Amino acid sequence: MYNVKSKIAEEFICDSEIRDTLQYAVANKDNRELVKEILAKARECKGISHREAAVLLECNQPDLIEEMFGLARHIKHRFYGNRIVMFAPLYLSNYCVNGCVYCPYHAKNKTIRRKKLSQEEIRQEVMALQDMGHKRLALEAGEHPLYNPLEYILESIKTIYSIKHKNGAIRRVNVNIAATSVENYRRLRDAGIGTYILFQETYNKANYEALHPTGPKSNYAYHTEAMDRAMQGGIDDVGIGVLFGLETYRYDFTGLLMHAEHLEATYGVGPHTISVPRLCMADDIDTADFKNAVPDDIFFRIVAIIRIAVPYTGMIISTRESQACRARLLELGISQMSGGSRTSVGGYVQEESADDNSAQFDVSDHRTLDQVVEWLLDLDHIPSFCTACYREGRTGDRFMTLLKSGQIANCCLPNALLTLKEYLKDYASPQVREKGEKMIRRLLSDIPNEKARSKAGEYLDFIEEGKRDFRF
Ligand code: SAM
Repeated sequence: MYNVKSKIAEEFICDSEIRDTLQYAVANKDNRELVKEILAKARECKGISHREAAVLLECNQPDLIEEMFGLARHIKHRFYGNRIVMFAPLYLSNYCVNGCVYCPYHAKNKTIRRKKLSQEEIRQEVMALQDMGHKRLALEAGEHPLYNPLEYILESIKTIYSIKHKNGAIRRVNVNIAATSVENYRRLRDAGIGTYILFQETYNKANYEALHPTGPKSNYAYHTEAMDRAMQGGIDDVGIGVLFGLETYRYDFTGLLMHAEHLEATYGVGPHTISVPRLCMADDIDTADFKNAVPDDIFFRIVAIIRIAVPYTGMIISTRESQACRARLLELGISQMSGGSRTSVGGYVQEESADDNSAQFDVSDHRTLDQVVEWLLDLDHIPSFCTACYREGRTGDRFMTLLKSGQIANCCLPNALLTLKEYLKDYASPQVREKGEKMIRRLLSDIPNEKARSKAGEYLDFIEEGKRDFRF
């Protein structure tokens, strides 16, 4: 039985509710009146249900699809402006006891080079990331109780936060590690993590079990209920996602929105972020072996409709996607992206070579962070290195309240400009510096509140003089 507030996986992600939803969507896909009604509701920017979203996704009428794209763009601008928050993944270890059939970390893979970073190697990686200009990381690791126990992750977080290198510091560490216990989530919270990220991979239980034949990750309920335990452990910023390409996109799109509804209904705060990774080629993984690949045109619609359905949730795109694809997605609701990423363990210090491969998957966007920043400036998006909300304690519902109030314009815009200014002063190439300075001069006057505007101007002058780390 479907129950949005249940803490049991198969009740809040109820297979029969998903199947009914998909049937309802097919039955109504040409019902223009209903689609228009859903779009009118969505225009109020308070979100729509998984059923309504499924109807939008099934609708194939070009004019209505254009309307969805336009609405997604409008909602993105209303809540997130044209800011894009930058981050990079940091792979700590690819030792893994699981048997995930789509991931080259799977325990039986004999060709991938296994590697785990020492604390000294982490220091080197982090300094390399700081020299690029990064302030926000997503830690990634395989699941291995002996090689990568929680103690190792906690020690690594401590190391990362302790590194002050030139003008740099990592100010927010998000963590993407395997599902764990309430007690361990509490320890992660106490270590000062930003968001706890865990992808569901697929919400279809039978398929999940086939894709995860061995290892602790094969337990569907334990994995699906992880965010409930994270919330109980006091982590109120959680990031969800599915790996598109494993299951039919319709099923997982619906499951993803039901998961967001469950978190909102049960804990009063929905997911902080939603990620939309698509399956990539990797060491011993061939995407041709998976029959549910999602084509670009459908992928764009998925992103746009997620934006419409959960207007307050940040949306993340990684370098799994190409430059061209990322350009399109920027306009459809994405608010965070990685840049200059390496998916190999130790890859920021040492380039991968073909015969020495520890990477998790092949990236499509190979540009440096500086190139990504320049491209964003050219597209009139503000590359932001902001980490202010979490450092000011604005997490969970406090963050959502601020976002919903629209006050974020007096807060996020100046923070984006201040952190961009730091990037320009410390890391940018001369031409990027020139473009960025121009943008800052132009956008300073867009800060609505006069006091905030003048304070931001003052802080920008301080940064010019060499001081760092101002925030609203
Ligand atoms: N090991 C952790 C877990 O079990 O959730 C998470 C870390 S894993 C490094 C991060 C994510 O990479 C996985 O959750 C999965 O969605 C994604 N991934 C795995 N194989 C991939 C592939 N071949 N292409 C794209 N993404 C992949």
